[in-house]
Amino acid sequence: MKALVAVKRVVDYNIKVRVKADGSDVDIGNVKMSMNPFDEIAVEEAVRLKEAGQISEVVAVSIGVKQCEETLRTALAMGADRAIHVETDGKLEPLAVAKLLQAVQAQENADIVLLGKQAIDDDANQTGQMLAALLNAPQATFASKVAVNGGEVEVTREIDGGLETVAIKLPAVITTDLRLNEPRYVKLPNIMQAKKKPLAKHTLADFGVDVTPRFSVVKVAEPKGRSAGVKVETVADLVGKLKNEAKVI
Ligand code: AMP
Repeated sequence: MKALVAVKRVVDYNIKVRVKADGSDVDIGNVKMSMNPFDEIAVEEAVRLKEAGQISEVVAVSIGVKQCEETLRTALAMGADRAIHVETDGKLEPLAVAKLLQAVQAQENADIVLLGKQAIDDDANQTGQMLAALLNAPQATFASKVAVNGGEVEVTREIDGGLETVAIKLPAVITTDLRLNEPRYVKLPNIMQAKKKPLAKHTLADFGVDVTPRFSVVKVAEPKGRSAGVKVETVADLVGKLKNEAKVI
């Protein structure tokens, strides 16, 4: 059995992004980039399934600029066996990514395709669902537990107000939620070993996929700044302000 894991290079989650002066996008010049945190969880899960003897190969795939190679090397250092980089400089919408992943899956025939539930840069939460539709494969999103059982996989999903466990047939698409696992810390020897693992390069032309943007971003704006708080002297003052100023009681 094989797992294909999609990993996206995004602005590191610790970075506070700034909006470009013209409001056209966020400014990612000179900011630290890392693997999307939900994708780290996806890689970790695939590697754990391999360590448990339930799958035999973990393949990481990333689509984007040259530096995605670094993201893929991180996946390899975490335990992926090989990597695929589809290199492109253009901005890709989730549908284009899903179509490219579909093309990669057509070559790989993985039993489990793992993605993050969302990329923390565009917060789209679309790619996994679109990919499942394109592949005509079952999907289980927001996974907090994955148990492979022969030709099926049982996935516990985080839903509003509780957990839902579904059983789906393989091959299937699974998207990871935060509580699925805690990704391992990558040690130096693993980073060195990862340099020797295979990383295949592709271009968009290899797949003949139409990646034309379907929408345009009208405006990007910073969240409204919060106004400073005030200290009240008495409970009566507080109640008065809540009633008359905030108008919440
Ligand atoms: P999104 O739908 O953009 O929120 O992304 C959901 C998931 O799709 C991510 O967590 C990744 O697993 C995968 N994904 C999105 N964009 C890419 C990309 N450029 N390369 C590889 N995987 C991606």
